[in-house]
Amino acid sequence: MSGQQNSLEQPYRKQSFWLDTIPGSLAPRAALEDDIEVDIAIVGAGYTGLWTAWYLQQHHPGLNIVILEAEIAGFGASGRNGGWCASYITGIEHWFDDPETRAGAVRLQRQMFDAVKEVGHVTQQESIDCHFDQSGALEVAVLPVHLKRLREELEYMHAQGFTDTDYRWLSPDETRGMINIDKVGGGLLMSHCAAIHPARLARGLAERVEKQQVRLYEKTPVLEITGRQLRTPHGKVTAQTIVLATEGYTNTLPDQQRRLVPVHSMMVVTEPLNTEQLKAIGSPDRYTFGTPDHIVTYGQLTNDNRIAFGCRGSYCYGSRVHDFDPLEAEFGLVRKTLLRFFPDLKDIRFTHAWGGPMGVSRSLRPSINHDPVKGLAWAGGYFGNGVGAANLAGRTLADLVLGRDTQRVDTPWVNPPDGHDKWEPEPVRWLGINTRRQFMQLADKAEYRGSFFAPFISKTLDTLFP
Ligand SMILES: Cc1cc2nc3c(=O)[nH]c(=O)nc-3n(C[C@H](O)[C@H](O)[C@H](O)COP(=O)(O)OP(=O)(O)OC[C@H]3O[C@@H](n4cnc5c(N)ncnc54)[C@H](O)[C@@H]3O)c2cc1C
Repeated sequence: MSGQQNSLEQPYRKQSFWLDTIPGSLAPRAALEDDIEVDIAIVGAGYTGLWTAWYLQQHHPGLNIVILEAEIAGFGASGRNGGWCASYITGIEHWFDDPETRAGAVRLQRQMFDAVKEVGHVTQQESIDCHFDQSGALEVAVLPVHLKRLREELEYMHAQGFTDTDYRWLSPDETRGMINIDKVGGGLLMSHCAAIHPARLARGLAERVEKQQVRLYEKTPVLEITGRQLRTPHGKVTAQTIVLATEGYTNTLPDQQRRLVPVHSMMVVTEPLNTEQLKAIGSPDRYTFGTPDHIVTYGQLTNDNRIAFGCRGSYCYGSRVHDFDPLEAEFGLVRKTLLRFFPDLKDIRFTHAWGGPMGVSRSLRPSINHDPVKGLAWAGGYFGNGVGAANLAGRTLADLVLGRDTQRVDTPWVNPPDGHDKWEPEPVRWLGINTRRQFMQLADKAEYRGSFFAPFISKTLDTLFP
């Protein structure tokens, strides 16, 4: 690789282990340099934007579509996540619990089960080598309170009509045989989940949509949106429909402030495990795994036998997107949490540490919105569960934009009444989000210490932040 290419792609490689291990070049594609007119302009080349373009082209191959990306395809959360391609939609319980939306929520959940398969299907058909492996997700109990939480979750999902094929209880021995997390007391297997290499999916999709004649401009930040016109540094785009797919970065767009705010998550990855270490963690299969703590923990065994693991996170005042430094002290706590799972790995070397923003809406649920009069559509707010969800969101956005009357558009996350709700202004927003986070950390600490106060802290958390 030439020195110039190298310097162009270095800033991107260091964003995550996943981007660092992408074969081929990450040097940006050409930026937009002219004024153009198109049918559809998509802002953001993460999974949401790319899947939307993909399905639009599948249904309507002649459409004139552009994607405008501020950096490079996969620069955002899509190139940095934990690689759980899961079927969970954050906050779907709200729709299960409301008799008016219950049937739609069950439909939506089944569509999410299919979305995981669909990602596997398209990537196989298109030869996108994203290391897709649908072994399932393991939620592992290491404390009595975890067992209770997982039992309740299982009963809840079975009460919605799902079965052992979807969510299955595992005995301690069975769980240990699948993943040998320290002090394992049982677990829940969620079969609709695949481990993937996230950046390979994003970069592979970008190449495939380009082959379908979608024009992808990189280093092209959208600075302003006026009606159906988008302004970028060197060219204007006039579009029949604009699709916003900027998730955790949405707050940086004028007129979009306080709709989705960035909450960050942090990850580390180990060197490849040797045979002995692999035996110690007990997993030849690539289950994704975590514990049901208040602060989410998520891990996967990568295709080359490393553990990629994440937890913790932060919210910055004013909804600023944080640029992570791998030497930040808090990464030490992420590493420590992983070693609590697998004490036998105490001498393992960690090779990368990174973080990224996840979009969070005021309702804490994702939504898909379309205003045909304004010619504006957007999706996001997946709150850390966007890998599978962005596929379904992209398919649904394509249906909405093309006016296709499908089962997908008849689900509760499409144009929900609270989809446009805004977050409170600062400093209330910062105080609210960080107080919640502090309580969650406190609740986890108390539970691991077996503190008498643990149930009270948990209850207070549920009462203050239902
Ligand atoms: C550390 C981490 C771990 C995660 N782990 C998981 C997981 O294991 N499973 C899961 O389901 N989800 C996970 N998530 C969440 C998941 O990655 C996201 O929900 C998903 O990738 C969102 O995709 P997206 O396309 O909507 O947004 P993004 O991938 O963030 O893409 C948005 C794009 O918009 C671009 N952009 C921003 N502003 C502009 C502008 N003005 N003009 C042009 N372009 C712009 C950005 O550069 C970016 O490329 C995780 C997230 C993080 C950060």
